Amino acid sequence: MNENRKILQRMDELISVAKRSFNLGLQTNAGGNLSVRLDNSDSIIIKPSGIGLNECSRDNLQIVHLDGTIEPSSYRPSKDLGFHLDLYRIRDDIQAIVHYHSPWATGYACAGLPIPCLTVQTIEKIGRIPLIPLSPQGGPQTEREISPVFRDLKVMAAMLANHGTIGVGKSLMSAQYLAEIIEETAHIAFVRDTLLAARNIPSADLPKYGTSAEAGQTGK
Ligand SMILES: [Zn+2]
Repeated sequence: MNENRKILQRMDELISVAKRSFNLGLQTNAGGNLSVRLDNSDSIIIKPSGIGLNECSRDNLQIVHLDGTIEPSSYRPSKDLGFHLDLYRIRDDIQAIVHYHSPWATGYACAGLPIPCLTVQTIEKIGRIPLIPLSPQGGPQTEREISPVFRDLKVMAAMLANHGTIGVGKSLMSAQYLAEIIEETAHIAFVRDTLLAARNIPSADLPKYGTSAEAGQTGK
């Protein structure tokens, strides 16, 4: 496959995942963003600034090199370009990044509460979801706050306080799945905590699930 066809294929994948997120209600309006690394290349495709996930097209997606050089375009890359580029620079395993302001998860992030990994799926697939505070000036998180957390190679997802979610992965779809699991987990956690509070049941008394591997090690 020649280089141009590969770029168009990656663009079409990104457009499809962006539409999926919009259709799932993970992101409305022009917020949120996603990007993918081009195969064997030091460049990425990223959503443009001010364009909704449902309006991404081959004509408005941005190609940016990891040194920050932006291919000429009448659009501008997402304003979160800085942290996308930095995550690709520090983690060879990251091939795609999604960032949304999905409402259930962002509700937890606005309350300053980490989303607990409650279900068997979240324990196995995510493990932990660090909550990254706002920048020291109180503005949105940048690579200065985000990259140190992702230097831990086990971290594949994070919450941004007062802001939203980040999922990373070996493909756009694997990053997307993490963003979907985070949103689903926040919803489950809210239902669980509401039910426990209504029945005066302390969550400390509930059984704790470990990974299948851990369960095997302990002979359970
Ligand atoms: Zn954002």
